[in-house]
Amino acid sequence: MPIATTNPVTGEVLKTFEPLTDQQIDEAIGRSVAGFRALRDTSFEQRATWMRAAADLLDAEQDEVGALMTQEMGKTFAAAKAEVTKCANGCRFYAGHAEQFLADEPVEPSSVGAAQAYARYQPLGPVLAVMPWNFPLWQAMRFAAPALMAGNTGLLKHASNVPQTALYLGELFTRAGFPPGAFQALLVGSDAVETILSDPRVRAATLTGSENAGRSIAAIAGRELKKTVLELGGSDPFLVLPTADLDRAAQVATTSRCQNNGQSCIAAKRFIVHTDVYDQFVDTFVTHMSALTVGDPMMDTTDVGPLATRQGREDVEAQVADAVGKGATVRCGGKAPEGDGWWYPPTVITDVTRDMRMFTEEVFGPVAAVYRADSMDEAIELANATSYGLGANAWTDDPQEQRRLVNELDAGAVFINGMVTSYPQLPFGGVKNSGYGRELSAAGIREFCNLKSVWIGESGRADIDAATE
Ligand code: NAP
Repeated sequence: MPIATTNPVTGEVLKTFEPLTDQQIDEAIGRSVAGFRALRDTSFEQRATWMRAAADLLDAEQDEVGALMTQEMGKTFAAAKAEVTKCANGCRFYAGHAEQFLADEPVEPSSVGAAQAYARYQPLGPVLAVMPWNFPLWQAMRFAAPALMAGNTGLLKHASNVPQTALYLGELFTRAGFPPGAFQALLVGSDAVETILSDPRVRAATLTGSENAGRSIAAIAGRELKKTVLELGGSDPFLVLPTADLDRAAQVATTSRCQNNGQSCIAAKRFIVHTDVYDQFVDTFVTHMSALTVGDPMMDTTDVGPLATRQGREDVEAQVADAVGKGATVRCGGKAPEGDGWWYPPTVITDVTRDMRMFTEEVFGPVAAVYRADSMDEAIELANATSYGLGANAWTDDPQEQRRLVNELDAGAVFINGMVTSYPQLPFGGVKNSGYGRELSAAGIREFCNLKSVWIGESGRADIDAATE
């Protein structure tokens, strides 16, 4: 894939970049090691000052960087600006909480025969971050803010279609005061990931992206015995049960499916509706989906912009054609317009069966697959009948049903009467083929730390338990 900015509104290639040479990659890793040496001994207070300065830069440059994201991957300008604000808030969250999240964990000294005992979180070193284009700033920031606050350094291999956003990020943290080499963007293709991850100076990797990329990076990391965090795809269910507020559920279903032009890992993708409320919910949902304005992502009035890439649109078209060919019903949308740009309309498809691709695959575009469930049992069975397990949305006012859903939905997050989203305060990640490890919250900052056991005895006393290792 060429490293280039291509406007999805027109399909026009605006700017291309040569990938870094092996020597440039080697030098960048060297700078990352030097940056790590400089960063690891700085205080939390110092890092927090720099991190807050990065947040201030983001606030000040919101319009500029927002427009850049819109130009590179087609999200609406309003959504892009909101993403910049979310990043600034994420930086401030970790600036304010890193020290507490990484505080020494005391252990009762006498229980281990020591004068002092505790566990200490220490940074690992340079970490490779392979990131996707769909939230080009936020996905990278979810890694960068906690990693830098912990004292790690970051090497960002961003998606090849968002190189200018990558370069912005590559300069942001040094502009904010972090040491040179603390966070760098490497303009390389995915073929360079093996070289970088195999380098002994690179200590770990995080990937947000597709299942295939996850398998590939996990295989390299397995061979190299390096820790990974994988945030992969999802096909989140959205359950609507009889006691739900149907109007509100239909509105949120529309937002969840179509935000970011339908290209979010935690978008609701499979709508599982109880038969008692099926017709009412589906009618309202179709009305909301049909009312969305598709158009120029820079306009305030636009709800849905183009898909980010030509390939992405072809994938969605093929999945819809497969469903229609096997008997599904298109309730709205379902056909890409002629002309330039990679547009796809908000689409609702009913009568989806298990032999259709969209039953098992992630649909990365504004296409909702709707299923009818005759009971709560069937709704839960359908929700879990996927290889993914990222998020799950469910709508019910019945407390017993809520308890059951929280326990039985097989996902990294369950949101009842709301839309799955990410908050710095809550852990974020998946189960099954949606990956492993967690970002955000205390869990996220601890992923790339060495939790070191520290045991200090009284000098002159050798209290050694020879029976254990
Ligand atoms: P992608 O094709 O996997 O690309 C993501 C990143 O991985 C890019 O930087 C890409 O580089 C790189 N990459 C691709 N194949 C690779 C390989 N074999 N080895 C090493 N690196 C590789 O995914 P995408 O199409 O950009 O993003 C959409 C996917 O990401 C969806 O499945 C979505 O659900 C998932 N996602 C997950 C989360 C989460 O938090 N769980 C969040 C957002 C998105 P190139 O661009 O150079 O190919």
